[in-house]
Parts: sequence; structure tokens; C-alpha cells
Amino acid sequence: MIVVLTGGTGGAKFVDGLRQVVAARDLTIIVNTGDDLEWWGLHVSPDLDSITYALAGLLSKERGWGVKGDTFFCLQAMKTLGQPIWFNVGDRDLAVHITRTQLLKSGKTLNEATAEIAGQFGVQSRILPMSDQRVDTRVDTPIGELSFQEYFVQRWYQDPVNSVRFAGVENSRPAPGVIDAIQSASVVLLAPSNPVTSIGPILAVPGIREALRQTPATVVAVSPIVGGAAVSGPAGAMMAAQGWPVSVGGVAEAYHDFLDVLVVDHRDAAAAGELQKAGYRVHCASTIMTTPEDKVALAHEVLSLLSSETTATSDSI
Ligand code: GDP
Repeated sequence: MIVVLTGGTGGAKFVDGLRQVVAARDLTIIVNTGDDLEWWGLHVSPDLDSITYALAGLLSKERGWGVKGDTFFCLQAMKTLGQPIWFNVGDRDLAVHITRTQLLKSGKTLNEATAEIAGQFGVQSRILPMSDQRVDTRVDTPIGELSFQEYFVQRWYQDPVNSVRFAGVENSRPAPGVIDAIQSASVVLLAPSNPVTSIGPILAVPGIREALRQTPATVVAVSPIVGGAAVSGPAGAMMAAQGWPVSVGGVAEAYHDFLDVLVVDHRDAAAAGELQKAGYRVHCASTIMTTPEDKVALAHEVLSLLSSETTATSDSI
């Protein structure tokens, strides 16, 4: 079983590649829910949705989120009614939020609701929220503390970041199946997702980090930092706020206690050499996923690295 820890946009591209080279039933995806929000009275789980759409082959490639070809009639109608519209919700996307909210209201857990929605989309891989309990990523900025979506979507991540916290995480538990998946995996992959606000909340759920330290599976992370900067989004500012360098070294630091192999871009070959001297196992690859072919190639590369992993590190730099 291949287990992936992921957030939304970067992670969804990676998962989109993996699904094309791995049998669906061999894939379990553990997803960040720290970005979840209540929007128009509905429970929205942006990262769960991105992964569901990616696995169903429905993710919008242009936007990197939402359903491809979606329309936005409801959003426009809500604007006419004077409702907030800063969080973009497409019409088909909305149907998922309504369904999830109904399932939760009927007493289902987030884990159960996620499985039911994924099943309706014909997804055969397992999608697990990191936790059934609510965990809220909160971003402290000079204008005060913001929810993740206020910081990210409403304010375009323009505010300087003082710190990040995961409200409620101390009372959360891994969703059923999460620990077992990590412990029984043949490999655990950390997608090129924001180490602070996408992977960070997953690692903060009590028991998950411990399971990663203890699993006999090889743990491989793909760096979201390329050439000393985030490929997209606020990962750089977030990492700096945590006191980590904005570099592949910073990514290694974030995962140092359980990481076996770090996959970095060819552009970071020099920094990778330094990391290797410091004792890390590092592999250089083309990690920028612009085209569908790039995604598939990266998935192949990461998986082939694993088959050669036990025999040699000669293809590592
Ligand atoms: P979010 O929930 O939408 O923030 O999604 P993620 O955390 O999964 O994705 C954002 C992260 O993915 C950012 O840190 C980006 O630097 C990284 N990222 C996006 N596209 C790529 C890519 O093509 N290659 C790599 N290596 N990283 C990427």
C-alpha cells in the first residue's frame, strides 16, 4: 500500500500523477483538514475535495482546485443577494459541500462522509481526513489572527506571518484507518505540499508523527521548495515564520525525525549535496509539474527510486 500525506493544490497535482501509475486500490491518501471552513452554512473541506476531484480525473487543471468545466451561477446569485463571495465555490463543487454537510448533520463522521462522496465519484482509492475532529489552522498577522482561508483566499496571503497554530489539535485524534495505514504501508510519500499549513496540521494530530517515526515503511518527501522559493503560495513566508530556512534544507528540517529520502529539484542539486554531507538521503528529479506528462514522470521517478532504494543510492546525487 502506498500512503500519501497531502494538502490541496501541490498535493493534488502529485496525486493526479500517482493515480495514473498505481492501481487505485493500492493508494491511500491522508489529507489535511486544517483549511476546512464553514461557508454559507456548509462544511467545506477544500483539500479533501481537491484530492477527490484529482482521483476522479475531474480536477480543474487551470485553477488547480474545483471541478473542471464548473459554472459559477450560484456564486453570482449569492452576490446579488448581498452574500460574501470571496471564497469561490463552483456549482458542482457546491453540490459536494451540500452533500457533505447533510451527511455530517445526519450523524456521519467526516471520514464516513468523505468515503461516501468519493464512492459516488467512483474513486476506488482510500481518502482519509487526518482527523474526524475539527482542527483550525490560524495565522497570526499584524492585523490579528486570521483563519487560514481569510489569510489565503480573502487577503491573498499578503499579510506578514508572525506564527501559525492549529486550534483544537490537542483534542483531536487520527481518523480511523490513519495510523494503521501509516504502519502497514510499503511506502509513505509526503506530497510537495506546504510543510507548515498542509503537512503541518497532519503531523500535529497526536499520534501521527509518532507513527511516521515508527513505521517500517520508507518515508519519502517531495520538496515544495524549488530553487530557494515556494513553487506557488505562501510556503516560504510560513516556513520563515517557523524559523526554518526557505530551502530544501528547511524542508528536511521540518521532517527530520522521520524522513528517509528527500526528493528535490535538479535546480537544488548544490543544496542537495550539502544535505547529503549532513547525512540525509537526497534524490534529484524534475519536480515541477506543469503538464500531465510532468505529473506522471514525477510519480514514476519517485516509485522507481523506491525499488532501487534498498539496493543502491547510485542514482541519488
Ligand atoms: P494548498 O492546500 O492549496 O496550499 O496545497 P498544497 O500545500 O498541497 O500545495 C501548495 C504547495 O505546493 C506550495 O508550497 C508549492 O510550492 C507546492 N507546489 C505547487 N506546485 C508544485 C510543483 O509543480 N512542484 C513542486 N515541487 N511543488 C509544487
